[in-house]
Amino acid sequence: MKSPAKTRRIIETLARQHPNADTELRYRNAFELLVATILSAQSTDVRVNLVTPALFARYPDARALAKATPEELEPQILSTGFFRQKSRSLVAMAQKLVAEFGGDVPADMEKLTTLPGVGRKTANVVLGHALGVPGLPVDRHVLRVSNRIGIASSEDPEKVEAQLCTLLPKEMWTLASDVQILHGRRVCKPKPLCDRCSVRKDCDYYLSLGAKARKVAAPVGTRARKNGPRRVHTTRR
Ligand code: SF4
Repeated sequence: MKSPAKTRRIIETLARQHPNADTELRYRNAFELLVATILSAQSTDVRVNLVTPALFARYPDARALAKATPEELEPQILSTGFFRQKSRSLVAMAQKLVAEFGGDVPADMEKLTTLPGVGRKTANVVLGHALGVPGLPVDRHVLRVSNRIGIASSEDPEKVEAQLCTLLPKEMWTLASDVQILHGRRVCKPKPLCDRCSVRKDCDYYLSLGAKARKVAAPVGTRARKNGPRRVHTTRR
């Protein structure tokens, strides 16, 4: 495991590589982000963003959604997958919001996770992005990236969340999740593109590769050439 200072530097470096890292779900308030995040399970943000504008127009708040039936909802969210289970969760979640929280989304992890369909990951997404409360959602990308780099050491999302939260100041929790999610999607994929990675010199996985493998993964333009160095043209992205 890395030190808190090194972990912080790694997240800052990833943030420079992915300056626009943020949730890609579209929402206008905490209720909409809560609904969108529940829908995003086993789906993609792009797919959810196609469905939610019509859904939010029809059910703009918890009170409206609480009056719907799961059967009414099903055809509207069909394309996000697991639509029966998600419909039941959404209606029950809205009913509980109305019955116990006055229709508002509570800015509290313990209360949020009492809602049907809401686990720690969903709660952290909403807390960190829509309610101004530090939250560090751990999804499969954060799990993969943090374990490879060596800033976490577990396959259990809750343990990884606790490890990262211990290493980082609260104000960096949501950023740490956002940058690792984007890094996992674009660079540190299941088959990692280490030659495009800004933190490879601090990455346990990269450093564990043999010298030959590291050479193969070395950034374009830095590999030794038989006939001496050549001019490298770089393109700004
Ligand atoms: S060096 Fe490779 S394995 Fe390590 S974080 Fe970067 S892309 Fe992932």
